[in-house]
Amino acid sequence: MTDTLLRFAGVSHSFGSVLAVDEVSLAIRRGEVFSLLGPSGCGKTTLLRICAGFQRPDRGRIILDGADLTDLPPEKRQVNTVFQNYALFPHLNVFDNIAFGLRIARRPEAEVRREVGRMLELTDMGEHAGKRVEAISGGQKQRVAIARALINRPLVLLLDEPLAALDLKLRQRMLVELDSIHDEVGITFLYVTHDQGEAMSISDTIAVMNRGRVEQIGSPAEIYEAPQSSFVAAFIGDTNFFDGAVREADGDYCRVAIEGFADVLLFNDKKVRPGGAVHLSLRPEKLLILQEPPPAGEERRNTVRGIVEEVVYLGAATKYWVRVGEYRLAVYRQHRRFLLDEKPIKWGDSVWLNWHADDGYMLERYSEADEELLSLPDTGFEAEAGSPPGPAPEEGK
Ligand code: ATP
Repeated sequence: MTDTLLRFAGVSHSFGSVLAVDEVSLAIRRGEVFSLLGPSGCGKTTLLRICAGFQRPDRGRIILDGADLTDLPPEKRQVNTVFQNYALFPHLNVFDNIAFGLRIARRPEAEVRREVGRMLELTDMGEHAGKRVEAISGGQKQRVAIARALINRPLVLLLDEPLAALDLKLRQRMLVELDSIHDEVGITFLYVTHDQGEAMSISDTIAVMNRGRVEQIGSPAEIYEAPQSSFVAAFIGDTNFFDGAVREADGDYCRVAIEGFADVLLFNDKKVRPGGAVHLSLRPEKLLILQEPPPAGEERRNTVRGIVEEVVYLGAATKYWVRVGEYRLAVYRQHRRFLLDEKPIKWGDSVWLNWHADDGYMLERYSEADEELLSLPDTGFEAEAGSPPGPAPEEGK
């Protein structure tokens, strides 16, 4: 790709017997926000440190703007890092922290003042310029760290979990600010996070990492709507998994037998033949939860009957757990006019779930090691496989 600014070519690194980064190749475009996203220990920080020059890879090359950086020391690379813990100089005030890089480079004082002024304005820190760094808040410290890194005009700004130390509200605000700083300076951002919401909101491109490898690279929508593995489907957002076997295959669609369901119609993008096994992912918001049977009509929709086992009110939406045979399905219903045009759905209610055949996604089944990694509080699907069957609902329409 001609527009590539930063390239990781076959990069691997081990710490003793731990293979932290395994044959990673990435192409990061000039000006984009590119995120490395994955669970703790997947190798994203190691990859960032390799790019910054703090860690030499065992194998592979790092190419920045056409030049090979792999053997250069950190100070010779046109990249700067913003760390989670800010790493500011406590004995210097805000102005002097930001000015540090230019002073080390022995730039004329007039230029230092002009550039620091520009950075103070960019990060909205002008009124705090004379304060000691202990006297400013966490969010302000992070802005100083960003200003201090940007003042050197790096080609790439490396951000290592930059918002992790902030509380939720501040994190959301800083994310918007980071986005507008990025729009203003136009510098390429390489952003490391384990927080999928953060990565989805700020990134042009996301690389999802798992155990040292890149599982998928794509835009936030591609990663969410078209996951290429069960790991990605479960790590990014919430999903329901099913196992079944194709009963009939006809053109683009197939009918899949799933325990406890009437045959499910599914888009057959993998062209699985009758008898073939299918592992299916279905996002909770794609399921419509209804208190009456849906009107007959659109032939490509699936309907199944279940019993509500749990209701979790989340504010903007309610999450329901619905028992269908041996499965517990997560379903989201967004509120529009709560209690005005929505009859509440309660624990124990009998409901119909309805979804379009195109919204189920065929994937490879996740490995046992992935299953363990994915037992994270946000994935919400871990109960399915082994959960005891509840009351047997009637199947089908
Ligand atoms: P986190 O979000 O928890 O920081 P990460 O995805 O950034 O995780 P890394 O910090 O890159 O992951 O670590 C990848 C693997 O390498 C982990 O198994 C980790 O324990 C190991 N590792 C990282 N740094 C070192 C080190 N200096 N010495 C030994 N092992 C290390």
